[in-house]
Amino acid sequence: MRTHVLVAAAVALLAGPARAASVPSPSEFLGMAVGADRTVADYRQVLAYFKALDAASARVEVEVLGKTTLGEDLFLAAISSETNLANKKRLQEIARRIADPRGLSEAEAEALVHEGKVFLFITCNIHSTEIAASQMAMEWAHALATAEDTETKRRLDEVVLLLLPSINPDGQVMETEWYRKNLGTRYEGGRMPWLYHPYVGHDNNRDWFMLTQKETQAVSRAVYHEWLPQVWLDEHQMGATGPRMFVPPYAEPVDPDIHPLVWRDVNLIGANMAFRLEQAKKTGVIYGYVFDAYWPGGTKNTAWWKNISGLLTEVASARFATPVRIERNELSGGGKGLVEYGPQTNFPSPWPGGTWRLRDVMDYERIASDAILETCAERRADFLRNALERARAAIATWSVRDAFRIPADQRDAAGAARLAALLSEHGVELQAAPDGDVYVPLAQPYGRFVNELLTPQRYPETKLVPGKDIVRPYDVAAWTLPLMMGVRAERAVLPTGLAPWKAVPAQLPLDGAAFALAPGSPETARLVNVGLRAGTARVARAPLSEGGHEWPAGTVFLDLAAAKAAAAKGVPGQSWTAVPSVPAATEALRAPRVGLYKPWMASMDEGWTRFVLEQYGFEPKTLDNKAVRAGGLLAGFDAIVLPDVTKELIATGKPKRDEGAMRYFPELPPEFAGGLDKEGASALKDFVEKGGTLVALSSSTEYVIDELALPVRNAAARSSDLAIAGSILRAEVAPGHPVTDGLPREVAVFQDEALAFDTVLPGPEMDRRVLASYPAAPADVLLSGWMRGPEAIARKAAAVALTVGKGRVVLLGFRAQHRAQTPGTFPFLFNALYWSTAK
Ligand SMILES: [Zn+2]
Repeated sequence: MRTHVLVAAAVALLAGPARAASVPSPSEFLGMAVGADRTVADYRQVLAYFKALDAASARVEVEVLGKTTLGEDLFLAAISSETNLANKKRLQEIARRIADPRGLSEAEAEALVHEGKVFLFITCNIHSTEIAASQMAMEWAHALATAEDTETKRRLDEVVLLLLPSINPDGQVMETEWYRKNLGTRYEGGRMPWLYHPYVGHDNNRDWFMLTQKETQAVSRAVYHEWLPQVWLDEHQMGATGPRMFVPPYAEPVDPDIHPLVWRDVNLIGANMAFRLEQAKKTGVIYGYVFDAYWPGGTKNTAWWKNISGLLTEVASARFATPVRIERNELSGGGKGLVEYGPQTNFPSPWPGGTWRLRDVMDYERIASDAILETCAERRADFLRNALERARAAIATWSVRDAFRIPADQRDAAGAARLAALLSEHGVELQAAPDGDVYVPLAQPYGRFVNELLTPQRYPETKLVPGKDIVRPYDVAAWTLPLMMGVRAERAVLPTGLAPWKAVPAQLPLDGAAFALAPGSPETARLVNVGLRAGTARVARAPLSEGGHEWPAGTVFLDLAAAKAAAAKGVPGQSWTAVPSVPAATEALRAPRVGLYKPWMASMDEGWTRFVLEQYGFEPKTLDNKAVRAGGLLAGFDAIVLPDVTKELIATGKPKRDEGAMRYFPELPPEFAGGLDKEGASALKDFVEKGGTLVALSSSTEYVIDELALPVRNAAARSSDLAIAGSILRAEVAPGHPVTDGLPREVAVFQDEALAFDTVLPGPEMDRRVLASYPAAPADVLLSGWMRGPEAIARKAAAVALTVGKGRVVLLGFRAQHRAQTPGTFPFLFNALYWSTAK
């Protein structure tokens, strides 16, 4: 009620000249002490406040970017002078021309620099436990909306601030609800036993080149299609026991293909942040620490290759909104850039320890936010000129004839269509040839981005000390889309006679009695799963010759009823051939009933697996510890999938104890304690022996190997030479098995741990088949990224299928559906699920 009265009051005051003074503060508006201990505004309150601010202030405009996965309004607030906001369309046009200066004369460019404003994009709270920035954003916006001092007004004249208080609203709501529920209990401020997003949790900051999630898509649209900002700051929080705040410059390594002016802008801003923080006696600020300038998976990171100066800040966390006390001896370095906790040039004033609260986090963030606004205003013309220069340099890196070609005629044409659509979503320009080939010219503003995503990575082996180990990758080390998607894209010369690319329509004409779908594309599963609910689908288990056609093993045939449902669904680029009838020498496919195991320690791979399976129409049901332990699984499921979770976590609900590292594993409410335990293990064993199919992904294979005593072991476990960081490896596929039907002879698999199998010849009651192996020559193993010691996995098995009792086990020793970024190997998982219902 209070809310409504205040909004009405604020709106009524709009007409008066003194309206700024009556813009309510967030605490007044929400009736809570924002930033106080144990107090948080949830996302809906944050949005309500910004709407009120929009209504009350001519300096604030709320723009809804789209719906989140759970249907919240994802919004940004444009905050600037009244004049700038009234002139928004023109300023956006200038930003667009600066981002793509092709055809501009020197004089025209300089006129745009003169007239334009810096677009400063600030994203907060992508990680929902990192709650402070969503609260700080309200206070900051209020201060900017109401300030009457000349300095603030000057900044708002020079800069259009595009502020997103939370880019994961669903998670923000989940975390604030969990926090409020546990206030005053022993679990207050403790972790939530599930992901803070319907699917991806913390990995929402790994989605920025694949754009699979609604939130990523909406924000990317705002950045690359609508606003074209020159500067992007993403505000995070980190652990509680290290430095108080990270600001740029970044740590090593740096990607050599990013324009150096990106780092010069970033470092200038970062230096001013540290300067203002130190002046305000905020100790513990560090740069050149942990966070590198190389990997493109995160929000503003992807933007580096698109000529945007992207910054990260990380502030030490409290326990959500509950203060935490850090003893002096608990303060530690241990990361890149701070080995021992103590003064260094990048960390001149270590924080001494003590109590740390939500308000501290917000204060550090607020000072850094004001500092970036200050620098952007101060350097307005420089930053616009630099952005223009970066775009020009990107365009000039290649000749106008340099391009990539994505051929229409390829094994997975649907995947190729998907790659083209993804690049277009990224703001990349594409062209189409009359034969359907897609060309991606390199001489365009996002040419560096195109080149980065379409070519293999070679991780720079930077050393900080001579002779010592290299700086290890922050996250993964490879993101070569054609390899991950199983799509062919190659360097080519741009031909003449091209037209602007348009999305391929999903035309599946119903001009036959039955239809054949070429095997091997993951996209086929979308059509098969929808078709199976309406009609019948049959698969060729061996190559077929019929009616003058050769059909490879794995070809799926849909009858007309199934085809009608599939055609209504549609998949652009899908192979779809009318045939007079479904060949008799085929086997019926049945829709598998899939269970997906979900531990109570939020597993991102569980979320991604569920996301991928749902996207492709498998409709998985979640199985928690209790459901597995209850047994009788065969009545409900044909296949059970264990996501990439360690065997300790599956068995006990607790992670493996790190030898050497002191770690405390916080307790969860009793209903979330424990793992599968003995009952769960025997329920799974019973499920398999009586006819079920168990599919284990990556780490969880070790659990299954142990519990079912399989004649398989991890051959890489004991190799001390082997090291790998999320990279793409070559694997040779063994044909002639339902799990590998339709896959090419060679696939690119994503691997991020020391895992490869040795098998042992079993007894006559068991069959074991190696489905894929790493090449015999170690030099052939790595396709993209970074690894050491490939000898340890050369010739070893990457995936194995076994029969156990009446059932089956599939061990996929690589990341077959990693972060939904590896469609090229989705068929391993999908085929394993279909295998569960085969004869
Ligand atoms: Zn974070």
